This record gives sequence, structure tokens and C-alpha cells, in this order.
Amino acid sequence: MNLKVYTQLYCKEALKNLDNYLDRELAAEDIRLIEKHLAVCKHCAAKFKYEAEVVDELKSKVRRISAPAELKNKIMTAISDTPPET
Ligand SMILES: [Zn+2]
Repeated sequence: MNLKVYTQLYCKEALKNLDNYLDRELAAEDIRLIEKHLAVCKHCAAKFKYEAEVVDELKSKVRRISAPAELKNKIMTAISDTPPET
């Protein structure tokens, strides 16, 4: 297998699935593919790690603040959902 080609081809796919991956909304097979890619692609691994940290931090902040439940839900939705492409 040409590792370099595999990496470059898969970057787009991996980044596209980043949010779903962080939300664990992917099929087990897709998660395996992404983790395989992250193991060989420093660029994506750094990006995923950064995003995961940002999301974790936001989520723990939201949990700590005393905002109305409705607002919290809105923030949680905004963090985890990407608007559908039109
Ligand atoms: Zn990559």
C-alpha cells in the first residue's frame, strides 16, 4: 500500500467526518478507518486532537455555567451539529 497516497486521499474524508467522529456518530467501521488514518497522518491527528480538546472544553464550560436549559441545549447543538450543506 502506498501510505502517502492513502493519507492524502483520506484527509478530505477524515476532516469531513471530524464532527461526527467527535460525537461518536459514525459507524464502527468508519471510526476504525479514521483512527487508521490518524495513525499515519500527523496533520489530521493534530487537527482532530485540537478539535476534540476545544469541544471538550466547551462542553465542560457549558455544564459549569448556570444558564437556562434551553440556552444550554442550543449551545450543545451548535457545538455538535454542523449545518447541512445546501
Ligand atoms: Zn490526513
